Amino acid sequence: MPRPIEALIHPDALAHNLARARAHAPDARVWAVVKADAYGHGIERAFAGLRGADGFALLDLAEAERLRALDWRGPILLLEGVFEPRDLELCSRLSLWHAVHCEQQIDWLARHKTHAPHRVFLKMNSGMNRLGFTPAAFRQAWARLNALPQVDEISLMTHFSDADGPRGIAHQVAAFQAATQDLPGERSISNSAAVLRHMGPGGVASDWVRAGILCYGSAPDVPQHGIDHWQLQPAMTLRSQIIGLQDLQPGDTVGYGSSFTAPQAMRIGVVACGYADGYPRLCPTGTPVLVDGVRCRTVGRVSMDMLTVDLTPVPAAGIGSEVTLWGRGPGGAVLPIDEPAAAAGTIGYELMCALARRVPVAVA
Ligand SMILES: *Cc1c(COP(=O)(O)O)cnc(C)c1O
Repeated sequence: MPRPIEALIHPDALAHNLARARAHAPDARVWAVVKADAYGHGIERAFAGLRGADGFALLDLAEAERLRALDWRGPILLLEGVFEPRDLELCSRLSLWHAVHCEQQIDWLARHKTHAPHRVFLKMNSGMNRLGFTPAAFRQAWARLNALPQVDEISLMTHFSDADGPRGIAHQVAAFQAATQDLPGERSISNSAAVLRHMGPGGVASDWVRAGILCYGSAPDVPQHGIDHWQLQPAMTLRSQIIGLQDLQPGDTVGYGSSFTAPQAMRIGVVACGYADGYPRLCPTGTPVLVDGVRCRTVGRVSMDMLTVDLTPVPAAGIGSEVTLWGRGPGGAVLPIDEPAAAAGTIGYELMCALARRVPVAVA
């Protein structure tokens, strides 16, 4: 038997979460963002659940090719645009839409020999200060693109820095609208947090929204809200089994650095999952896990291949008991990926993207 760890991808959860995006943005078309190999889920594995999207947004040309190989004929958007002039040939061949965020990319387009003209998403830096033209430079970039025979449609996009937090999006929306109000073209402005928090009645409008993390069943605005609040379901489960048991006496310690000391007699389970599987070493004593669907807590340090769990809440557990590190447990129990992520001081995005290659992945 192989080491009993595996990840499961849940197409029904992906489809459910996509429907939540649609419910929050009923007038918009929805890009399912599948960069980073569908946030670690695997583009091919996630495709069945997300194929109801209006398009797929990603960064990497090789990932775009993989989507076309799945026979996806609909829109694909390169969120960072092309990285060198030759990429434009692949955009033509695979009919990829691409972001244009800097003058260099316009220069490349101007020199590109193409038969089918390109659809581009001109990106504004409305305050994030990562990619895009400033509001002051935006109009001139638009005019340059508009004069190119290589370009037949220009859409307008920007990205929010604080859609999940107290600063909100109003300042960026105002900058975007002021600089674009008399420009034609479709708009694409919302990530998951903006879709869920800012797009209801009276909220901001966008022709295309870009839903990433919500599709995968992690809340974009933890700790304010969890997936229950947004009615999202985990699209990835990481599960393993108990492979060892220890009965501790008061004063016994567990694992490297003896960071946990048993305050009383207790039984612990040793789980076949460690940081080499993508489980964060930073998760301290007390990080929640499910054992046979019952909420328990880790004790001691996470090591490369194992971690240890206090089995007090589940005395019947033994060798072979199922341990859910995140996702769906037995009996309908759910452990959102956001919980171990928060325990490690990070976000669900990072854990799902960092699932290690040695973990076998199956579609549930
Ligand atoms: C990753 C990304 C998104 C999706 O963000 P989520 O928070 O995962 O929804 C949207 N737009 C751009 C430009 C991105 O890079």
